Amino acid sequence: MLKEIFINTRSRIELINVDKEVTSAVSECGIQNGLCHLWVPHTTAAITINENADPSVVRDILTSTSKLIPQHDRYLHAEGNSDAHIKSSLFGPSLTLIVAGGKLCLGTWQSVYFCEFDGPRRRILWIKTMEG
Ligand code: ZN
Repeated sequence: MLKEIFINTRSRIELINVDKEVTSAVSECGIQNGLCHLWVPHTTAAITINENADPSVVRDILTSTSKLIPQHDRYLHAEGNSDAHIKSSLFGPSLTLIVAGGKLCLGTWQSVYFCEFDGPRRRILWIKTMEG
């Protein structure tokens, strides 16, 4: 089963916690044990896992990423969003999570974040679960 989730991002750059959406998708699929694969079908967005307790962590990630890859530089790509393409590749388009007992196996402080690097846009997240 492939589930498609739509995410309306609000800023040019932001990390959006999608734990609830992914958890719901796993529940709807009805698998108890297996894998949950997340795929972002965009070239200026990504997906990652990081801390959910202190929101400063997400802000630090965004600030440091933008320092490393500034929005404006001597990029060749004519669309003006080269920084977003580079950030997308650094973070990556996919994650594979373990499902056990019908629940996602995440560490206490871990959450799944959809990474917007060229918003605001209407984005898609594909979720594929596999029993096993
Ligand atoms: Zn582009």
